[in-house]
Amino acid sequence: LTGDGTGRPSVSLAQPDDAHAFDKIRLESELRAALERKELEVRLQPIEEIISGRIAGYEALVRWQHPERGAVSPAEFIRLAEETSLILPVGDYILERVCDMLGELQRRGRKPLPFIAVNLSARQLDDAQLVERILAHLRKRDLPPDRLKLEITESLVLDYARIADLLERCHAVGMHVALDDFGTGFSNLGPLLTLSFDQIKLDGSFVKALDRQRGVAVVGVVVAMARALDCDLVAEGVETREQREILHQLGCRYAQGWLVGKPVPLDHVLKA
Ligand code: C2E
Ligand code: MG
Ligand code: MG
Ligand code: MG
Repeated sequence: LTGDGTGRPSVSLAQPDDAHAFDKIRLESELRAALERKELEVRLQPIEEIISGRIAGYEALVRWQHPERGAVSPAEFIRLAEETSLILPVGDYILERVCDMLGELQRRGRKPLPFIAVNLSARQLDDAQLVERILAHLRKRDLPPDRLKLEITESLVLDYARIADLLERCHAVGMHVALDDFGTGFSNLGPLLTLSFDQIKLDGSFVKALDRQRGVAVVGVVVAMARALDCDLVAEGVETREQREILHQLGCRYAQGWLVGKPVPLDHVLKA
């Protein structure tokens, strides 16, 4: 074990795989500590109704500002948390923070109250009490359940029975569920035959493709499908006015991306 001058120890003699494993173990214990010290921050990225320019809601995106490594990408540490059981306390922490934020928006008289969408990971779905616990958080703060959306990424939908169960529980109490990253990975339309999502989030890669006729054609089909299913459609990763204009013309109702706004702390949302 040697230092590399940045304060980060590094492994010199070990094989790359060992180094990777070592790094993972260390990152895991650091994540555990970060959770205890409340170093995880939940930011809110606005979701705009294109036709009115109104901010309909926000997606909660977790951030970890590591004292030495700087910002660690959620794509990296969420996967790590999933491989260990840490995702359960991390997920609970995020859900509770989001309920606090909704409560704060309500307390400040924000009308209509925007929704906040939270990303769920597979392990959280194993928890049979998940919906009940979220509902308890919402009730404690006198919040209408339809202001919380759960985002389920497309790859999780492989587990039909579990997702069907989640949808049923959520809909029974008025909570909404969104299908995230639609169009990536499995590109399987099968789940849509039986599962009634409240919202579909079109992956940003399709928005990027709007500069080509093929991309416009494919997104047009997704818009028609969402409409036929009576499902809200949110385009992710909208970065330019041109993209938003094409989405508007195609009939996509909502846009999320840097053009609308980056993920910001609750304070910024309250001041806006
Ligand atoms: P996601 O749920 O698909 O979130 C959207 C990602 O796109 C976010 O990356 C967001 O910052 C980024 N993004 C937003 N607008 C734009 C844009 O205009 N251009 C581009 N290029 N990117 C944009 P982020 O925050 O790094 O999160 C990455 C992934 O990590 C998320 O993908 C989600 O799957 C996961 N994640 C983030 N927060 C949480 C969380 O609280 N819990 C769980 N389980 N997963 C989370
Ligand atoms: Mg998401
Ligand atoms: Mg997404
Ligand atoms: Mg995505």
